[in-house]
Amino acid sequence: MVQSLKNYNTFGINATCKALIDITSIEQLHEVVQSLVSMGEKWIVLGGGSNILLRDNLDCTVLRIALKGIEILEESESQVFLRVSAGEEWHSFVEWCVQHDYSGIENLALIPGSVGAAPMQNIGAYGQEVRTVITNVHYYSLEESDDDLSLNDRVKSISNDECQFGYRDSIFKNELKGKSIILSVDFVLNKVHTINAGYKDVQEELVKHSIAQPTIQDVFNAVIAIRKRKLPDPKEIGNSGSFFKNPVITIEQYNSLLSQYPTLPKYQIDEATVKVPAGWLIEQAGFKGLRRGSAGVHKNQALVLVNYGDATGDEIYSLALEIQNTVLNNFGIMLEMEVNILPQL
Ligand SMILES: Cc1cc2nc3c(=O)[nH]c(=O)nc-3n(C[C@H](O)[C@H](O)[C@H](O)COP(=O)(O)OP(=O)(O)OC[C@H]3O[C@@H](n4cnc5c(N)ncnc54)[C@H](O)[C@@H]3O)c2cc1C
Repeated sequence: MVQSLKNYNTFGINATCKALIDITSIEQLHEVVQSLVSMGEKWIVLGGGSNILLRDNLDCTVLRIALKGIEILEESESQVFLRVSAGEEWHSFVEWCVQHDYSGIENLALIPGSVGAAPMQNIGAYGQEVRTVITNVHYYSLEESDDDLSLNDRVKSISNDECQFGYRDSIFKNELKGKSIILSVDFVLNKVHTINAGYKDVQEELVKHSIAQPTIQDVFNAVIAIRKRKLPDPKEIGNSGSFFKNPVITIEQYNSLLSQYPTLPKYQIDEATVKVPAGWLIEQAGFKGLRRGSAGVHKNQALVLVNYGDATGDEIYSLALEIQNTVLNNFGIMLEMEVNILPQL
């Protein structure tokens, strides 16, 4: 029976799928996938639905990964090794780590979504990326089409190096896209803390509270306060966070743009390339705060496209294309979408 996905995507788009199945065990996943394959049915995998835009209805089944559990694999004086199931909520896991005094992901507080989706785009924020704490990713492999492969044959593990992590990127968005369902993620976290409070906004928030020697709890609290102030809450205004990636351009291109746009900000990547903030480009192109019906660009954060109520996925997608074209015409920079567009183009 057709099922609405309105409550399963943070954009709040009222698109449908053929069926929605909660996956609570690996055995169930194996059975469901085998049966869908044997019926020639298509499916996609969803976590919290906080990094997708449903452009249209989905002519397939949606598997919601609801595998739960946090397991301590090993511990030493200075480190702890954890295995966390894909369906655990990311922010609750971060909170759990801070409560247990394990450092390494406190700067990634309040990012919506699931643990299983975290390696997909190597989530990052406020000077931290998840790749620095992942040791292995375990996934259900759909690479071989042999229907008779047992569950054991289908469960594979890859190391951090093999994940090919990059800026909002990994092997799961490329070579293994559509061929892997992440089951669990192994993390190494630190009992001896290195505080990562160098990011300007975090520093300012700590100073505001007169905190000179921050703990991981202070950084966690600071990040939450900043995010609540700066980003729209999907419960109030539908959105999927940053819609575009910050583009990386050559120094030559940057220097030539600088003559026309002397205030163009940059973050140095290496000797040859710099990253420029997509939000700045979108704002300069005149889109910040723009509203077309219920689709719009957030008034405080030009990188976030929003659904003010009953926008369709296609309305938001059209606005995204218009932004892409205008930024390309104005700056010669093609913005890449960070959000996953479904159905896939
Ligand atoms: C308000 C807001 C703020 C945000 N801030 C940030 C930020 O600071 N940094 C950042 O990096 N991201 C941010 N995001 C984006 C988003 O939270 C992350 O990308 C998050 O990891 C998505 O998790 P999810 O479970 O919701 O994934 P979903 O949206 O459900 O899925 C995203 C993609 O991953 C695939 N997928 C999901 N689970 C699995 C699995 N188990 N196996 C295989 N494939 C899977 C889906 O098919 C889809 O292609 C933000 C989003 C919002 C709404």
